Amino acid sequence: MHRLTLGNFELTAVSDGIYHLDGGTFFGVVPKSMWQRKVVPDANNLVPTGLNSVVVRTGDYTVLIETGIGNKLTERMAKIYGQPAKLLDNLAAAGISPEDIDIVINTHLHFDHCGWNTLLRGSSAVPTFPKAKYYVQEGEWQHGRLQLERDAISYISANYDPLITSGRMTLLNGDKEIVPGISVQVFSGHTRHMQAVIIRSGGKTACYISDLIPTGAHLDLTWGMAFDLFPLETIENKKRYYAHAIPEKWLTIFTHDPNLPWAYVEKDEKGKMVIVPV
Ligand SMILES: [Zn+2]
Repeated sequence: MHRLTLGNFELTAVSDGIYHLDGGTFFGVVPKSMWQRKVVPDANNLVPTGLNSVVVRTGDYTVLIETGIGNKLTERMAKIYGQPAKLLDNLAAAGISPEDIDIVINTHLHFDHCGWNTLLRGSSAVPTFPKAKYYVQEGEWQHGRLQLERDAISYISANYDPLITSGRMTLLNGDKEIVPGISVQVFSGHTRHMQAVIIRSGGKTACYISDLIPTGAHLDLTWGMAFDLFPLETIENKKRYYAHAIPEKWLTIFTHDPNLPWAYVEKDEKGKMVIVPV
């Protein structure tokens, strides 16, 4: 477990465990000869992939960003991706119970980002965090509903539709402050409506940038995932992110890094983006 103080807020990184993605899809158009210097694949070309959530305690609110894969995958999907289902245990180990969570923010609705939003009681999906209000962008939900050939597999309605029907999930239209110091900002590229979560307190800033920069190995502008629906927008929005994050020394939170939940990003003398550990 990783914990740090950001101004008056406390941030705790908690993981849903490690799952596995094909290294080719993880690094998009980057040749294996290059990415395998950073990440070593197994015999099936799979690379370990983290599922990092963050709990922010502001003093007034306890906010959970992202909820991992959860435990509702079909047998077939669990076989392909794995289903570690460790988030609730890791929250408990950090002294956080599901009842403590006031707010859940999903950056987008792919199954590996909102899986623990709900769990099954009998055959119906109920909120895992019984007191929480949930937030996502409306456009993201609308896209998931289309069930397009390209990415229908990523959208599992039991992760969010029951929450929308019961009025627990608020569908946002654009950038918004959720509670004082925690706001969401749309960064398209991975999906059209993916939102980053920006956390500000006492003059410090952290950003859960989600799948725009999924790991510390994806810092370079052109190192994007093959899953990105709008790869040119990923590049432009990475530039937009770094334009603030580097000079203003934001803490960058990596959704899928198995080793490093957060770090600072700096530019070296050659203009290359590099990780600076906390
Ligand atoms: Zn993801």
